[in-house]
Amino acid sequence: MNLHGHLAIASLGYVMLEYAVPWLPMYQLSPLLALPLVLLGALLCDVDHPESTIGRLCLFISWPIRIIFGHRGITHSLLAILCLWYFLGSNPYACAIIIGASTHLLGDFLTPSGIPLLYPYRKRYRLALITNPFSEFIVSASAIVVSYLYW
Ligand SMILES: [Zn+2]
Repeated sequence: MNLHGHLAIASLGYVMLEYAVPWLPMYQLSPLLALPLVLLGALLCDVDHPESTIGRLCLFISWPIRIIFGHRGITHSLLAILCLWYFLGSNPYACAIIIGASTHLLGDFLTPSGIPLLYPYRKRYRLALITNPFSEFIVSASAIVVSYLYW
């Protein structure tokens, strides 16, 4: 999934979770702060790809992760989410970033490549709904429209 798709799904996740789980700590923050953190979190998982937006900004981290774990390795797993939780702590800011990272996993889960959710167990889990650029556009555009309607 590309950058725009991840940002669209992160926006949708932020808006939908406000209705489903309004007691999440990130909703204590202003949406003007929480939403950018969610979007940042949605980019973090692709730090394992030196050509990604976040990877280009953090090449000194991106290349070692890519060489050791590969793309869509450890950073696309529940272990990565647990590490974020451990290192960022339990606060509204961390919550927003972790929710964003979780939406990234959801987005890549919807592609044929899937994600190694239970890393280091390398089986990839997938629900291949997004199989080509057109279906990715439809999913992204739908996520943006629904986000806007709920907002
Ligand atoms: Zn990814």
